Amino acid sequence: MRIRFYNSVIYTPEETQPFPGEIWVNGDRIECVLKTAERSTEQLEEQTGCGTEQLEEQTGCGTEQLEEQTGCGTDRFDEQIDCGGNLLMPGFKNCHAHGPMTFLRSYADDLPLQQWLNEKIFPAEALLTEEDIYALMQLAVMEYLKSGITTSFEMYFYPEMIARACLDMGFRVVICGTVLGKEDQVGEAVRTLAEDYEKFHEYHALVDYRLGFHSEYSCCRSLLREITALCRQYHAPVYMHNSETKREVLECIERNGVTPVALMEKLGLFEYGGAGHHMIYTTDEDREILKRRGIYVVTNPSSNLKLASGIAPIRDYLDAGIQVAIGTDGPASNNSLNFFKEMYLTAALQKVKYQDPAAVSPEQVLQMAVRNGARLLGLMDADGIAAGKLADLVLIDLHRPNMQPSEHIMNNLVYSGSIDNVLLTMVGGQVLYRDGVYPLVTDPEQVYRRANRILQRISRGVEGA
Ligand SMILES: [Zn+2]
Repeated sequence: MRIRFYNSVIYTPEETQPFPGEIWVNGDRIECVLKTAERSTEQLEEQTGCGTEQLEEQTGCGTEQLEEQTGCGTDRFDEQIDCGGNLLMPGFKNCHAHGPMTFLRSYADDLPLQQWLNEKIFPAEALLTEEDIYALMQLAVMEYLKSGITTSFEMYFYPEMIARACLDMGFRVVICGTVLGKEDQVGEAVRTLAEDYEKFHEYHALVDYRLGFHSEYSCCRSLLREITALCRQYHAPVYMHNSETKREVLECIERNGVTPVALMEKLGLFEYGGAGHHMIYTTDEDREILKRRGIYVVTNPSSNLKLASGIAPIRDYLDAGIQVAIGTDGPASNNSLNFFKEMYLTAALQKVKYQDPAAVSPEQVLQMAVRNGARLLGLMDADGIAAGKLADLVLIDLHRPNMQPSEHIMNNLVYSGSIDNVLLTMVGGQVLYRDGVYPLVTDPEQVYRRANRILQRISRGVEGA
């Protein structure tokens, strides 16, 4: 498919300001980006590969007309989308999520993390089937697309079902290992992780896999050592929940004599990079390790607020030269998968924490949401808009009260933007969401009904246990 987006304003992290232009998509890639204001005959010729004379011959248009229309004749495209002067930008990268937890949205609210996990979440999850995961992941992907998310980093069981659900919906996913366990579970956990890595790493153009484990507090030391061995064997980065609560850090120090970050370093888990999800309670020494090892911080502000975990010191990370990306976390702790909310909170909470309205800027938040997220996930081709990059794009409606005046688009996106502004979401050159419709989902109501039935079945099971 060749698709032309025209009459748009384009934002990409490489440019300081959005610019008027158009984007041509061919297959799963961006073929070219045309800056409307600066477009000249030479650029047009360079970008289209056609000489002016040839163009005129082919289309019967004069050069001026050609430049106005930007293209070598409309028949070159399968579809031409008039963006109506709206904003075209790279999709958001959701760098930490548990999508299939959609069934637990609003199921066990208002509890502290450990009690929430042990008394509510783990017993409910124990009753999930593989088929459940497929249906629940579908629901999550629908919410991602409506929120302008084009890739998600999914940490949950049954990777096969996550991959299948995402592939069937045309959605890009990176799956994160999520093993945990005590001494007697080490063998099975390591086998699972290695098998999943070998199966799903570079599995499909839309599916990749990263080594990961749940957290320090849910894994015994020998399991962590075995995961280090895998990371050395594969030369692979490792991802985990890290330093999410004060209690987690204090108990880790009691058990191991060091913080979770220092323990990961000591065990060799950071040797090939990776990221820590949450990272709220870290020391100067932790930050020195993160910087030296190139470890990313993934911040999940809604979840941290709702579970009363705390506010991550993002300003300190940026000052220390540590890369930050953003995640929604799961819908059981957030409870939405709304990336606009996460972007707003990433900026706003820092202002409160540091008593400084300039602590984190909208430009920095957008860099985290797009470029840093892509790089954390190894998607170097999805970190911006340029010829040859992946066509993972969103079209944002600027003709809404909350986006006007439109002079300061980047501030609007972070401070007043909303999922209601997302008009279209494209992944790998395929339109997956447009004006409230999901072309690849036959019946959204059926997806909702299935999720409801799963929750009802599991609630009965947990109560009867
Ligand atoms: Zn999480």
